[in-house]
Amino acid sequence: MVKPTLKGRWGGVGKDQWNNWRWQLQNSIKTLVQLEQYINLTDDEVAGVKHAESNFRMAITPYFLKLADPDNPNCPIRKQFIPTIQESYVSPADMLDPCGEDAHTPVPGLVHRYPDRVLLLVSDFCASYCRYCTRSRLVGNQTFMMTDALLERVAEYLESHKKIRDVLISGGDPLTMSTSRLEKIVARLHRIPNIEMLRIGTRVPILLPQRIDDELVEMLHKYHPFYMSIHFNHSKEITKEVRKACAKIADAGIPMGSQTVLLKGVNDRPTVMKKLMQDLLKIRVRPYYIYQCDPVVGTEHMRTSLSVGIRIMEKLRGHTTGYGVPTFVIDGPGGGGKIPVGPNYLMAAENGKVFLRNYQGRIFIYEEPPVAEPSLAQV
Ligand SMILES: *Cc1c(COP(=O)(O)O)cnc(C)c1O
Ligand code: SF4
Repeated sequence: MVKPTLKGRWGGVGKDQWNNWRWQLQNSIKTLVQLEQYINLTDDEVAGVKHAESNFRMAITPYFLKLADPDNPNCPIRKQFIPTIQESYVSPADMLDPCGEDAHTPVPGLVHRYPDRVLLLVSDFCASYCRYCTRSRLVGNQTFMMTDALLERVAEYLESHKKIRDVLISGGDPLTMSTSRLEKIVARLHRIPNIEMLRIGTRVPILLPQRIDDELVEMLHKYHPFYMSIHFNHSKEITKEVRKACAKIADAGIPMGSQTVLLKGVNDRPTVMKKLMQDLLKIRVRPYYIYQCDPVVGTEHMRTSLSVGIRIMEKLRGHTTGYGVPTFVIDGPGGGGKIPVGPNYLMAAENGKVFLRNYQGRIFIYEEPPVAEPSLAQV
């Protein structure tokens, strides 16, 4: 069956509406009936959407769905956002809370795992729902909000734990909140003397680039040093709207880093990942992390083996701009935090001689100075 083109489907929508982020959220595609109007769904997808209704909800902004290929189920946008029935399979390795966040939560919404920095979940709402989300146990339920009372409890905790110097504001997606609501949170955190920097983890610049308006960046600009980590998984996500949004953020002096989740069939080939890293540098986003996909319930079909990520790193380092080489990490299941994994370049060390291999596989020898500290051979 041939469906009308997406362009035709959205034809009646005025530019003002389309460019209004609230309109985009209000008109998100949430049901099978809606989705079928735009995409030629496979049987697996139809069953997956039905399964998602009573499990992890589906929602996709019209702007973002328009990037999906209506006829090709292997489209990277479809694979990330349209559920398939494979989600109903629960592998023995799957966990509800793979990063062990709930066990490190002293105040609701606050995850304190590392000595000097915390993760603060301020909302459980996202612009669209990624099927492999680490926090699928929390997001999409619309039951959690960072209220004023809770914010005070968080602030008291941070004030009494003076080693904490960095707050990563995440969720859900903090940028789905109104600018004034977000400013309340940011301003309160900014006032805490031991907090030296703030950052936001978000996917809004790609799912809802209309949201990145002057009012938002001017507000954030007041609370420097402010950083932003943006979740990008494929070059197809980088549209002219996204380029404009990232330019606004960069022009407000907010350094951007990318976070990418390694996903089967989406970005698990070195050429695809290298292109993404290079495309990010073009929009002033510095590749920060590539994550091994966490063992979240119902995501086994999206996960790769670890060697896939290591091979990708091998094809990045030395082969492209160093700024375009992120760190490949795996979140230690159960609460280990981020553990870097990558190719091994240190081949051997003996008698003060260190044997290294470069990106081409050629061996080089570095001679360590004769000093008192242990040589590498003894470490
Ligand atoms: C990822 C994460 C952070 C931030 O880690 P960085 O490596 O500093 O970016 C902080 N707290 C928690 C719980 C995290 O998962
Ligand atoms: S935007 Fe982030 S928090 Fe929201 S569904 Fe995607 S991965 Fe999860």
